[in-house]
Amino acid sequence: MADILPGPVCHSCGMAITKKDDFGCEANMTVMNISYCRHCYWKGQFTENITKEEMLTNIANAMKLGKKMTDEEARKMAGNMMKLLKRWKDQ
Ligand SMILES: [Zn+2]
Repeated sequence: MADILPGPVCHSCGMAITKKDDFGCEANMTVMNISYCRHCYWKGQFTENITKEEMLTNIANAMKLGKKMTDEEARKMAGNMMKLLKRWKDQ
């Protein structure tokens, strides 16, 4: 069942990960099985202790950039996307 996005995408902020350098890493600096980007996850931990609500606002703002979209529409889209991201799907 495809209940998470096909990768590579960051499962914290939803950003597409296009380069190996963009992956986060574990404490021993390996990138094995990492589902997060370097901005969200570094050396085995999340870089920011951000709440689901704060991330929703961040993603909604990014989605709105350059588009004719209301706050409400952007937040709805962001919320739908976050249901597919591992970091938030169980919250
Ligand atoms: Zn990320």
